[in-house]
Amino acid sequence: MSFTTPGLVCGHHHLYSSLARGMPSPPAVPRSFIGVLENVWWRLDAALDLDIIYWSAALGAAEALLSGTTAIIDHHESPSSIEGSLDAIARGCDLVGVRHILSYGVTDRWNNGSMLSSVSPTTPITDGARRGLLENERYLKSGRRAMVGVHAAFTCGNETLEAAADLSKKYNTGVHIHVAEGVDDIDAGERLKNLATDDWLLVHAVHLSGELAGTIAHNPRSNMNNSVGYAAPSQRQNRIVLGTDGIGADMMEEFRLAYARHREFDLTASPDTAWSWLENGHHFFPEAKQDVVQWSYDHSDSPWHVAFTPGIRAVDVAINGVPQVSNGVPLNFDLNEIRAKAAEAAQRLHERL
Ligand SMILES: [Zn+2]
Repeated sequence: MSFTTPGLVCGHHHLYSSLARGMPSPPAVPRSFIGVLENVWWRLDAALDLDIIYWSAALGAAEALLSGTTAIIDHHESPSSIEGSLDAIARGCDLVGVRHILSYGVTDRWNNGSMLSSVSPTTPITDGARRGLLENERYLKSGRRAMVGVHAAFTCGNETLEAAADLSKKYNTGVHIHVAEGVDDIDAGERLKNLATDDWLLVHAVHLSGELAGTIAHNPRSNMNNSVGYAAPSQRQNRIVLGTDGIGADMMEEFRLAYARHREFDLTASPDTAWSWLENGHHFFPEAKQDVVQWSYDHSDSPWHVAFTPGIRAVDVAINGVPQVSNGVPLNFDLNEIRAKAAEAAQRLHERL
């Protein structure tokens, strides 16, 4: 029993969503998962510019660090500001000091600045997808840690999916892709089965039929928020990690939700299973095991205790031996400045919507 744990890992984040809170209501109340994408997220991501992306990343990274999360796997889309977007996120994370693996989510739903009404497997690769692939490659070439991002099979033609898989092989990294989050992407498993490899990161897999190679990122709160169903990750052979899908990066909280949903599905479930999903994040960031988080609770390393103890706070955080948070206060950046600049950026973003 201990006050400390290693640094926690968010296995799937969208740092660009940090400024979505308080955004204007959508023109129509979404009544389906696609409606949520069209009316909320695809309007938001199209309104992003590099300055907004930077402050959004800085705020999201700061909130992660203050929650004891020292490493983030991010998935980004900004169709109006593709080039340089990954650098902007990296700078925001570096300001705060959290570790990161970034990816730009390629999609064929944008072509020459306008959204296509539908994308099919035979849709030829669009200029938007080409620019997204180039952004992934540009960033990978710089030597920083990254994966090749793909939005999802249902918004990409086969040509684009194959190009993303080829690019990931060239740089010896995996593809980071949403898979069968909603029923609209139910064909994903079939379309990806000859492309996916063990180093892929498959996000959600709620409606995935059959097996697919890769790690599955389970996002319990997001799945509930989008009403897409339960992913039942305990039924999969794949390695499972936990993510937030952009709703903060409080991984202790996400662990509690993962356990509660597992228990709802199976009364015999133990919190040890969801805890193992949390720990599996260190597969992507082995060095985060050396990060030290001191919590406000003396059984912070006990799944059974933590599962039933809401409100545990990260008190001190050290990354790579360097103290970053002391008594809940960041030591190496100005949180008030980040909050103020992020609020200004949020106002500009919301005015565009
Ligand atoms: Zn996502």
